[in-house]
Amino acid sequence: MSARFPEGLAEILPMTAAISADGHLTIGGCDTVELAREFGTPLYVYDEAHLRDRCGQYRDSFAAEAESARVIFAGKSFCTLAMCRLVAEEGLYLDVASGGELATALAAGFPAERIYFHGNNKSESEICEALVADVGRIVIDSFEELARVAHLAREHGVRPRVLLRITPGIEAHTHEFIRTGQLDSKFGFGVEDGVAARAIKTAAEEPAVELVGVHAHIGSQIFLLHSYAKAVDVMIDFLAETKANLGVDLAELNLGGGLGIAYTADDTPETIAGYASTIVGEARRHAAERGIAEPMVAVEPGRSITGNAAVTLYEVGTIKEVPGIRTYVAVDGGMSDNLRPMLYGAQYEALTANRAHEERTREVTIAGKHCESGDVLIKDARLGAGLAVGDIIATPATGAYGWVMSNNYNAVPRPAVVFVADGRARVVVHRESYDDLLRNQEP
Ligand SMILES: *Cc1c(COP(=O)(O)O)cnc(C)c1O
Repeated sequence: MSARFPEGLAEILPMTAAISADGHLTIGGCDTVELAREFGTPLYVYDEAHLRDRCGQYRDSFAAEAESARVIFAGKSFCTLAMCRLVAEEGLYLDVASGGELATALAAGFPAERIYFHGNNKSESEICEALVADVGRIVIDSFEELARVAHLAREHGVRPRVLLRITPGIEAHTHEFIRTGQLDSKFGFGVEDGVAARAIKTAAEEPAVELVGVHAHIGSQIFLLHSYAKAVDVMIDFLAETKANLGVDLAELNLGGGLGIAYTADDTPETIAGYASTIVGEARRHAAERGIAEPMVAVEPGRSITGNAAVTLYEVGTIKEVPGIRTYVAVDGGMSDNLRPMLYGAQYEALTANRAHEERTREVTIAGKHCESGDVLIKDARLGAGLAVGDIIATPATGAYGWVMSNNYNAVPRPAVVFVADGRARVVVHRESYDDLLRNQEP
């Protein structure tokens, strides 16, 4: 590396990010300005080494804490054939939350027995697809679904292994749209109101399914490990009561995902190793305290594997100064390739890829190209003083819930995705064409 990134950027960029002799941002040994030229913009650039490193940290950290622990990649954060293959190669499990994600995983050759099937309202056909594929686990979210899965399992002559999704009543300190552990949630069976215990009894008495455990996901972008320790305690208490009151002994405790990442220099995430030791350690300690066997712990990280692995590249098209108010920098993407700022008020940073070392002294608003005033990617972005039309802007930490939420608003084709490693770039998702946009419309 010939130059250093301005303060705070190295922590949020992919691990192989560097600056070339001519001041360009490089990732995986590839010059991002050249990538923009070759593949067009907006462009998602994923650092393959970063993805593999995070998978490896999860695999090794949890294996070091407990031999039986399972790490299940939350597919929805970046569900593509290339990612499913990478996750299979890294030896993780995979969770899918729809028939389409399941189809993607199967098309990638992901072993079905390592797949967990989620969703709070799976359709009958999605359930049948999961049964036919013979996925490893189905996570059941409601009484209606339990009856539906049991009925369809009987019809198919199979007996799926299932977990029940439990809402532990934990208020994780995160955005309300990504908070899922509280009683007032569309997800799962509540512990506090006694519904969860009733669901366990019903599922345990249902011969068409094999109830093997419970699942809880308290939310996403969580920075406080004690939120997880609390969730573990509630769930172990629940397992102990299930055993004492119903005589049902459940071996598997799946704690969902949600470990927070740094989107901006202000975010201070916990380490994967710290997360593993908190979860497994607390499960071990509290299970012993409650006199039950230590459960087989599983986690489902998404964002903390994919989030910081990617940047999005844009080209600056116009710069409009509103004197005394702000400067709008319009790029050639926006809410069609990154919906998170509009959906959650998510914050990002930006840098100029063709002058990556430049001190970021100028405050601007980075807007998209869509016909919405709310189409703002970053309200108070800092960029260099030399900012000009034609510059390539990179927004780090777009690897999770970015491309998968991309859409065709204003009939904008969805962007391409490239993986970079060892100086080579390969397209893993092609940019959509106008023909793609029109394919399903009656001419
Ligand atoms: C979204 C989700 C995850 C992954 O959350 P991250 O914040 O991406 O780690 C895991 N499990 C379930 C059930 C989810 O809904």
